[in-house]
Amino acid sequence: MSEIMNNEHIFIVRCGEVALKGMNKPYFERMLVERIKKLLKKFDGITVKRHEGLIWVRADKSLDKQAIIKEISKVFGVASISPAIECESTMEAIGEAAVKYMLEAIEERGVKTFKVEAKRADKNFPVKSPEIGRLIGGAVLKGCKVLKVDVHNPDCLLYVDVRQEKSYIYQDKIAGFGGLPLGTNGKGLSLLSGGIDSPVATWMMAKRGMMIEAIHFHSYPYTSQRAQEKVEDLARLVATYCGRFKMHVINLLPIQEQIVQNCPEEETTILVRRFMMRIAQKVAENTGCNMLITGENLGQVASQTAESLVVTDASVTMPVMRPLIAMDKVDIMDKAMEIGTYETSIQPYEDCCTVFLPKHPATKPKLDRILESESKLDCEALIAAAVESEEIIDIFPA
Ligand code: ATP
Ligand code: MG
Repeated sequence: MSEIMNNEHIFIVRCGEVALKGMNKPYFERMLVERIKKLLKKFDGITVKRHEGLIWVRADKSLDKQAIIKEISKVFGVASISPAIECESTMEAIGEAAVKYMLEAIEERGVKTFKVEAKRADKNFPVKSPEIGRLIGGAVLKGCKVLKVDVHNPDCLLYVDVRQEKSYIYQDKIAGFGGLPLGTNGKGLSLLSGGIDSPVATWMMAKRGMMIEAIHFHSYPYTSQRAQEKVEDLARLVATYCGRFKMHVINLLPIQEQIVQNCPEEETTILVRRFMMRIAQKVAENTGCNMLITGENLGQVASQTAESLVVTDASVTMPVMRPLIAMDKVDIMDKAMEIGTYETSIQPYEDCCTVFLPKHPATKPKLDRILESESKLDCEALIAAAVESEEIIDIFPA
């Protein structure tokens, strides 16, 4: 059996949708390789290469296999990952490797039944796929007396991938998130609160290849330092997927005070939201972002009724992405759990939106009325001052 097989971990990484990109395919694949390399940089002794439409990650045997899989599975654009073993492309070597692989599977996972799924990427290989399957199955039965073949519901589906230079044997196809490699679809400025929704919305846009920058509003000293730290914790969790990014932090209190003093109480929430959007748009323009991202969800709260969303949207000209708009709350919560932000999101800290919360917020605001209320404020100056006062925090992956 080949030496290599015992010296390193091999992971076969499949690109999902990236594979469908026609002329752009090499570009998307290169971006994907770059992202995988970046995430694995923390380990020494790893190589990442593109070959025959797949990505091959080789890692020193001393490294933690599960930790590597965990990192690769976070890369957007990865459809699945298979830890594999490698051998020479001869029937004898493949048979030997398959037996060794299955002996381990019996010991580690108590496998009792199996089925071979063989594929010949090298069409010059003298044995055809069904025949490879039959012969390797026979070799495994002979080498592992406790095993039986079960073609319908095997404990272990043993993949044999015969290629020109080497052949590969593996069992698991660990699912990635799919999507597109980061950096292939512009940059969005995400309005990040401490809630459940906005981290999920940010993650969903990043999954489509969008680079992320974030903006957070607080109302210090009405909101606490700890509340802001919670948002930074959330941002760091999101950064484990979308890489290091900048977070613009802005105190909204001066604007909220102006609104409370000069405008009808029931309009407070919608007016605050319009200011958030306009400040975000300014920051986005200054930082080369193509669009804004929010965690808004139709009907969830007073500020997210159809009428409120129309009035909020009218405050900016930049496109606003609302990837959660039609999702149910339970599904958003499930996603938050899956990506690991939920536990942090539900920590009970106050948000700037809950400061000066009106008793009866308008659920059907009218744009002309809102514009009339805003005419009592020097909006341009308030927005400019808010942008001017921003603090920028460098967010590194958790
Ligand atoms: P989330 O769970 O994301 O906090 P939510 O259900 O609490 O959302 P809202 O408070 O109406 O809903 O906020 C809607 C969206 O506005 C949020 O998803 C987020 O994108 C943005 N937003 C709200 N508060 C803030 C904030 N303090 N800083 C930045 N963005 C905010
Ligand atoms: Mg919120």
